[in-house]
Amino acid sequence: EGRGQRPRAEDMSEEKGWYRFELSSSGSHWSLSAQSCEESSGVREGNKGIQDWREEVETTTAIFSFEDFTLEDASCTLTFQCPVTVDEVIVEREQSDIDSGKSAVESSTVHALPPFTASFRYHVGYPVTSTPCFRLFHPCMSPSDLGEIMKGLREKTEELEGEPMLFSWIDYLRGGFFNSLSSVEHERGRKKWKRPAKLVKIISDFCDGMDKQQFNSEAHTCPICLENKRGMHCVRLASCRHSLCQHCLHSYLLSLFQDGKVQTPMCPECGTGMLNSDIKQSLSSDEYLQWEELSLRRALSSMEDVQWCPRCSCAAVLDDEDRRLKRGICPKCFFVFW
Ligand SMILES: [Zn+2]
Ligand SMILES: [Zn+2]
Ligand SMILES: [Zn+2]
Repeated sequence: EGRGQRPRAEDMSEEKGWYRFELSSSGSHWSLSAQSCEESSGVREGNKGIQDWREEVETTTAIFSFEDFTLEDASCTLTFQCPVTVDEVIVEREQSDIDSGKSAVESSTVHALPPFTASFRYHVGYPVTSTPCFRLFHPCMSPSDLGEIMKGLREKTEELEGEPMLFSWIDYLRGGFFNSLSSVEHERGRKKWKRPAKLVKIISDFCDGMDKQQFNSEAHTCPICLENKRGMHCVRLASCRHSLCQHCLHSYLLSLFQDGKVQTPMCPECGTGMLNSDIKQSLSSDEYLQWEELSLRRALSSMEDVQWCPRCSCAAVLDDEDRRLKRGICPKCFFVFW
């Protein structure tokens, strides 16, 4: 819980190869080595380095309480979803990107990003002469963002001077990298991140999903029955974000029916009118139809030019001729009434 939905495979940026950093022969600086690391050279049981690596993986995943990871035996590859939290960031649609999709999102203020899918594989010489081989995917990062993140990983590695680096790397990927990305604009203490519209939507959907998951897992006090109920049994009103329990909201709406005064239901906490979407999800489909009809009737009866057909009780709108003759004609059954 609280991890949010995973990005779908088709949203992932193109698969990139494995990278690792290797201590150069001069011994004084680390250099980025993009050589293919496909073969798991030296991965044999009983190897002390591998034992240490497995232990490091176990400890580190426990520290971050990752549940969603695999450690493949044969290749000693750790693969996991790395959640990313950020300080408040405004994700904005790129100016040049006119999204044709009907669900375009202009901007969204977020505190999290979809997770990285990360793989770290043991490599001979770890941690003294080599880092693990690694592979990173992120649905919202450009290749140049990923390049900067790799540079950050190299700096972390340099700081550690040959110590195991898994904790430090994961800690960095969990959000530490974000503020120094050159694609992030800093404006009077506020952070803006411009992305193509499609990605703004992905990020905003991801955060909505996380938000909903969190709401559902927490307890909320219903302002009507004063009971504490889990979010999954509550409704958070779209208009004012106050919540009440499903049971009380349903009874409240039904009581409005019975009183025959189908006024706009109001939040019991602050009096803000409820939106149709909230009413709809709290009523059965039959009840909602009834509700719509009553609302329509109420709206029409506030207009002077509407009369109700005495035969089938549908609404007839009077035109000038009707008004002159003081009559109504039912549009449904054509009954003429005075
Ligand atoms: Zn209640
Ligand atoms: Zn309210
Ligand atoms: Zn009629």
